[in-house]
Amino acid sequence: MTESNLHPGPTKPVTASFEFFPPKTAAMEASLWEAIRKLEPLQPEFVSVTYGAGGSTRERTHATVTRILKETSLKPAAHLTCVAATKEEVDAVVRAYWDAGVRHIVALRGDPPAGPGTPYVQHPGGYVNAADLVAGIRRIADFEISVAAYPEKHPESPSAEADLDMLQAKVDAGATRAITNFFFDNADYWRYLERVRARGIGIPIVPGQMPIHNFKQVASFAARSGASVPAALATRFEGLENDPEKAQSVAAAVAAEQALELMAGGVAKFHFYTLNRAKLVCEVCQLLGLRPAAPAHA
Ligand code: FAD
Repeated sequence: MTESNLHPGPTKPVTASFEFFPPKTAAMEASLWEAIRKLEPLQPEFVSVTYGAGGSTRERTHATVTRILKETSLKPAAHLTCVAATKEEVDAVVRAYWDAGVRHIVALRGDPPAGPGTPYVQHPGGYVNAADLVAGIRRIADFEISVAAYPEKHPESPSAEADLDMLQAKVDAGATRAITNFFFDNADYWRYLERVRARGIGIPIVPGQMPIHNFKQVASFAARSGASVPAALATRFEGLENDPEKAQSVAAAVAAEQALELMAGGVAKFHFYTLNRAKLVCEVCQLLGLRPAAPAHA
């Protein structure tokens, strides 16, 4: 099953979106902005900035999003979670984004503040889950709202069907796009897409792509977020722990193979988890046919 035979029609031009995390130090800020400047000419549909629990990371997300708005031609999307905040506090953040000119929010429940794997405790007076947050944002202003989707189901979900119920609730509340957790076996995405479309959910289910800058780190992210790492993928990185150059070549090949196969199946939108690094993402985008915009003539 592919997106094209689920949605037959002319091949659409490919578009990308890029996800960044807010920097903690001046050095991290410099490398984030280097990545943003390198990726900007690819004219992404939007760039998103993640959100952590706790006051300081919230401020960093806001600062990064507003700087993108002021200093670039990019359309920023701000991630927002329900964690450790009352509805009123979250609503104030939403209004501040609208007033600053932000028109796109990635609405999430968020991970438990003590880390994935620990029980999620709702803040008293806070939004219950992502669907509740989507409804809250809709009441405030006419944002574009993206939500998370899990081709291999969310680790807390008792079943694939219960997981789809949550996606359905987010769509019913007003979500306009879902971005998937990363996955390495495209069969998981196609199976998921088939189940989503069979339910009559028609919003774009944009595959989240994680170029492997560091195999060990990505394997650990995967374990925490319920994504599987095929043994064949681990084999390709075996013995390259101290050879970053070769690991980079393998990572580029892996990412390109995955994205090209998705494109051949009809996928026209990709979301890249950049980890604030541009090189691998640029290489894959080049293969997908995304070219930097020609510089404007004086
Ligand atoms: P929800 O959609 O509310 O629920 C997630 C899943 O939990 C459901 O699909 C379901 O399987 C299960 N579940 C929850 N409650 C119930 C219930 N009552 N009954 C049955 N099942 C239930 N985290 C951050 O902290 N900051 C970020 O910026 C961030 N960005 C992300 C971006 C993307 C694209 C993705 C895929 C994830 C991101 N996350 C982020 C991680 C996300 O917050 C976690 O995966 C979190 O555990 C779930 O958030 P959600 O919005 O998917 O939650």
